[in-house]
This record gives sequence, C-alpha cells and structure tokens, in this order.
Amino acid sequence: ALTGLPNRYLLGQRLTQAMDAATQGDGGVAAIYLDLDRFKPVNDLHGHAVGDALLIQVAGRMRAVLRPTDTLARVGGDEFVAVLTHVPTADRIAEIAGRLVAALSRPFEIEARRIEIGASAGAARYPADGRTAEALLHAADTALYSVKGEGRGTVRFFEPAMEAQLQARRQLESELALAVARGEFRLHYQPIVNGRTGEIETFEALIRWQHPVRGLIGPAEFIPLAEQSDLIVGLGQWVIETACADAARWPRPWRVSINVSPSQLRLSDVPAAVAAALERHELDPARMVVEITESVFIQDADAAVVVLNRLRAMGLRLALDDFGTGYSSLSYLQLFKFDKLKIDRTFVRRLGENSDTLTIVRAIVNLAHNLGMHVTAEGVETAGQLAILRALECDQMQGYLFGRPAPEVRIAETDAA
Ligand code: C2E
Ligand code: CA
Ligand code: CA
Ligand code: CA
Repeated sequence: ALTGLPNRYLLGQRLTQAMDAATQGDGGVAAIYLDLDRFKPVNDLHGHAVGDALLIQVAGRMRAVLRPTDTLARVGGDEFVAVLTHVPTADRIAEIAGRLVAALSRPFEIEARRIEIGASAGAARYPADGRTAEALLHAADTALYSVKGEGRGTVRFFEPAMEAQLQARRQLESELALAVARGEFRLHYQPIVNGRTGEIETFEALIRWQHPVRGLIGPAEFIPLAEQSDLIVGLGQWVIETACADAARWPRPWRVSINVSPSQLRLSDVPAAVAAALERHELDPARMVVEITESVFIQDADAAVVVLNRLRAMGLRLALDDFGTGYSSLSYLQLFKFDKLKIDRTFVRRLGENSDTLTIVRAIVNLAHNLGMHVTAEGVETAGQLAILRALECDQMQGYLFGRPAPEVRIAETDAA
C-alpha cells in the first residue's frame, strides 16, 4: 500500500465496527468519499514517481485534518474514504469534509514542480443513508458522483433523489458516446458585432444536441460530461470540421469563432485537426478564432502555451473567454498574448446597476487595450449596456440585443433579406 492506508476491504471492517459501536449509543458515524480532480493528467505528464509522491502528500494532508479515531482509506487510484466516528451533527461533518477538500486545493510541491489538483466530496450518514458498510459507501459515492463536473471544492450530502439523477446521468453519458456517430449535434451561430458600427464581424459557433427524445439540449448539460471522458475529443473534432464547412459556405467572409475545451487541447492535436479542416474546406486561417478559458493554464501551462503558439503561427486568432471569472486571470495574461479578451457576461449584466462594476469593466478594457488586445463584451441585452460599453470603447459586442444563437441557415436568410 503506497500511501500506507487501509484498502477497501479493511475499510469495510472498520466501518462495520464503527456502526456497531454507534448502535450501542457510541456517537454518530459518517462516510466521506473524496475524489481528486486532476490526478490522471499528473501521472500522464510527470510520470508515476511524481504521481506516487503526490498521493503520499495527499494522504498526509488529509490525516492532518482528521482525528486519530477517524479512518482514512484509499479505495481507488485517486479516491479516498474518510470514516468519522463520534460526529453528532451534519454541520460538523460538512465542516470536516470542507476542510479535507480545502487541504487538497492548496498547491502541492513535488520535485520543485508546483502541482494543483483539488478534490470533491460526497458524504453519507449512518443510519439514515445506509445501514450496512456497503450501503453507506454507496450513498457517499452517489453523493460524490452527483457533484462531478461542478468544479473544484464541492461537498455534498447524500439525498435519496440522487439515485434517479445518477441513473439519468449514466444514460445521458452512454447516449452522448453515440451522438456524434448518429449526427445528433448541431451548431448554432451567434453574431459578434463591431462596437462602433454595429456591423457583424464574427459568428460564434455554439453547440447543441438534438436529442431524439428530449429535444434540444444546451452545452451546459453535456460538455462537462464529455470533458470528463475523452468524448470531448470526437465532439471537438466535429465542431472544428462543421464550423469550417459552414463558414466556407457563408455569403460573406465573416470570421467563425469556436470554443475549445482545455481537455480537448490536452488530449488531442487541435492545431493538426484545425489545419486539416481549413484545408479541406479552403477556409483562410485568418477567418478562424479559437476561444479558450484560462483554465487551460491550470494543468500544464507550458504545454498549453506551445499549442496556442502553434495555432497563432497558423494565422488563427485567439480569444480568452469568460475573462474575469477565474482565479487569477491577470497572471495568465503574462503567459500568452491573446488577440482578444471576452468580458464575461456576469459583468455586463451588472453594468449600470453597480458603479463598482463599471469601474472594473473600464479597467479591463483599458488593460486589454494597453496590452494590444481587443475586447468583446458578452451578454449585451439592453441599449443601456450598449451605450456604456460604447463609451468605454469596447471593440466588439455580443448578446441577445444583436442576435440570439440561431441555426446556420438563418444567417444566409438574414443576409439575403
Ligand atoms: P460561452 O462561450 O461563454 O458562450 C456564450 C453563452 O452565452 C452561450 O450559451 C450564449 O447562448 C449565451 N448568450 C449569448 N448572449 C447572451 C445574452 O445576451 N444573454 C444571456 N443570458 N446569454 C447569452 P450556450 O450556447 O448555452 O453555451 C454555454 C457554454 O457552453 C459556452 O459559453 C461555452 O463555454 C460552452 N460551449 C458551447 N459550444 C461549445 C463547443 O462547441 N465546444 C465547447 N468545448 N464548449 C462549448
Ligand atoms: Ca478523479
Ligand atoms: Ca465562447
Ligand atoms: Ca464566454
């Protein structure tokens, strides 16, 4: 046992003992299931020796949060279970789970490498959520599974309704695997207009899933699922291919902007796929924009910069998406010089309501301009927001005020009208 922790079998025994003691009135029992966020890429990138050293540090940090009477076990490659005894209230369990997750969210240092992983947790209580060791662990695992894809640091308690949700999600996952082959995805396009003239310059491609039973499903429901497996690669290829094919047929040489997931960039050769599609459809590389969020830098910033530079060298433009919402947007600006920043729509929504927001947006626009980047404001819905953004000299605008995402055909109709 690499981490010196009990395995699943020993865990079952200890849990059963703790449950017996609790039944005799010796305090409460809870199981917390923990899953590390980005462990596999660490192994892939830095090798098993670093992965193993990381696991040992992970276990050490968790032990430091737990009391000597608690049990910590390793139940899978990057999954751990903590069994808490003598825990009277849900608040107390939530607090401990939160501290475990927080302990794993701080960066690790191994062989002079800074590694950021993070974790999520699911918790279940005896006897409400399960009366046997197996049932309690299953409940905690179900709670954990329900938080996956919500980002780092989530802690959740088991609820009976989660069983049905889990079932629905597994179903969606297996359907997603077939959806590319079945041709169920669609790209909708939303105009991005010039801030001064209002003329359309670019269309952003936004994916939808035309599900045979459920109808049109938005990306928020399936992109995170696809990102957790390598399904995102096939899906991303389809987006690249389809966006190039569509843009090549447009009546005017508008640019087409595609969203690329950080995991897609890491798992596949995006520049090669883009180059092949551009050539196949005889599309000028200068007509394509790649939008990416700053989370691309969290895992392995050097590798990300190499890929972004390859795209740049091909003649594409690069946009930093959702700017201002992440952890350290400013520091990432030093790593790679993007052609444009997209100000997240949470800022735009509050423009005009909140004078601090105005100050922040003004600062972002000035910062971008001073660094030689253009700025696009996302989610512009009102004439009031537009007036403010114009006054701030925001270069491009995107939002329902100018047009909602629509199927490709409607673009040609708009133009013909
Ligand atoms: P995003 O890249 O920030 O895309 C903009 C989102 O804002 C879109 O949501 C768009 O419909 C919505 N939006 C645009 N204007 C307005 C407005 O005025 N008001 C409001 N309330 N919303 C507006 P959508 O299409 O649901 O996409 C959500 C996210 O899914 C995107 O956020 C992007 O991160 C991701 N996504 C979409 N297509 C793809 C794709 O092909 N590949 C990948 N990897 N991710 C994608
Ligand atoms: Ca994991
Ligand atoms: Ca985008
Ligand atoms: Ca965005």
